[in-house]
Amino acid sequence: MIPGSNNAGMKPALLVINSGSSSVKFAAYDATADAGLQRIANGRIEGIGSAPRLRVWGHDGAPLEDRRISVPADPVLGPEEAFRQLFDWLGRHAAGRTLLAAGHRVVHGGAQFARPARVTPHVLSQLDAFTPLAPLHQPHNLSAIRAIASLLPELPQVACFDTEFHTTQPWVAQALALPRHLSDAGVKRYGFHGLSYEFIASALPGHLGLLGDGRVVVAHLGNGASLCAMQGRRSVATTMGFTALDGLMMGTRCGSLDPGVVLHLMGQPGMSAQAVEKLLYEQSGLLGVSGLSGDMRTLEASAAPEAAQAIDLYVYRIAQQLGSLAASLGGLDALVFTAGIGENSALIRQRVCRDAAWLDVALDEDQNLAPGGGARCISRPGSRVAVWVVPTNEELMIARHTEAVLQGRGAHDWRAGAA
Ligand code: ADP
Repeated sequence: MIPGSNNAGMKPALLVINSGSSSVKFAAYDATADAGLQRIANGRIEGIGSAPRLRVWGHDGAPLEDRRISVPADPVLGPEEAFRQLFDWLGRHAAGRTLLAAGHRVVHGGAQFARPARVTPHVLSQLDAFTPLAPLHQPHNLSAIRAIASLLPELPQVACFDTEFHTTQPWVAQALALPRHLSDAGVKRYGFHGLSYEFIASALPGHLGLLGDGRVVVAHLGNGASLCAMQGRRSVATTMGFTALDGLMMGTRCGSLDPGVVLHLMGQPGMSAQAVEKLLYEQSGLLGVSGLSGDMRTLEASAAPEAAQAIDLYVYRIAQQLGSLAASLGGLDALVFTAGIGENSALIRQRVCRDAAWLDVALDEDQNLAPGGGARCISRPGSRVAVWVVPTNEELMIARHTEAVLQGRGAHDWRAGAA
């Protein structure tokens, strides 16, 4: 695969990047007009800044590569060297293709970016301003864009925002009860995980039929976690707010918190704003409450009472906020689980559904436990609320947006089409 726009006889391809603090997830797609977007490979570079490793899987999930990256001149591999390795791998293993563009997940688009945007130096500097609002993600998202720009200055890059999907919410769902000059300055509830919700919204008709246009709550439960209330497959409310710290308890983030706690912490000796930020983003949630781990698999496997309490609190918060979103919708027709925990943890699904019995959610225990990775209905036939597991695909959503921006269709609405 080589960068370019008009290499005759070569297949057009797109690269999708989701860059975090210590890893870069990527996916490469063929983008031919007749066959649509077809994934060629996906993978990750892990251990950036420590012991880097490249892992790649083919379109059928078969492992293609799993090796330590040794870079003698740069033992703590930074993002630029990581991308050099990735382009090198693509050059050797995805031959016969022209790379048209790289599409990126960018967590925060603020009030300015309600659509995916072609990256320019001006756009990058605007996005830099949102770093304090998403310190776990935004700097890494942007450094990936910068690293690729320095390696391949001519390659078009497209930023796709996690905030975008929620721009359809009514004013009351976005407002904070603060003085008006603050909301005028952009201090409002934005919501996140929008690329995941947008993918699920595009997939709902194929799975739920007309019910997908009803009152649906999607639970995106990964390391970060949030709920989104949809009506007509548009966001009407969500649990994350001004930052990705609000709402549900997460792997290492606290979720909703009495702001008085923050004021209290800031008054403690040695607690600078940065120390409080670190505590709330990186030392709280499942990790903080259990004292063991922020990883749900580890907690489910643990016999420690603190692990059980962390799971109790995690489920309690989901059940509470599910009630809140059902109130925003005036009822509930379907509940959809997605992301790492939502797709894989039968225990968490079972416990959330048990707590949601008052909403007439009736889980089919056998379906819930049945192995299988695809989309599936897990409610009993008589359940008034349909319960589904639908695997998310943020990378495909980014590829769709990137292709649309390249073709000048930046405002395309994927909810109108099939998945
Ligand atoms: P990210 O938000 O980083 O993309 P994921 O969506 O991959 O994260 O979700 C990671 C979470 O999913 C971790 O807490 C992990 O333990 C959990 N998870 C993955 N598989 C399982 C499983 N089989 N059972 C329980 N939890 C799981």
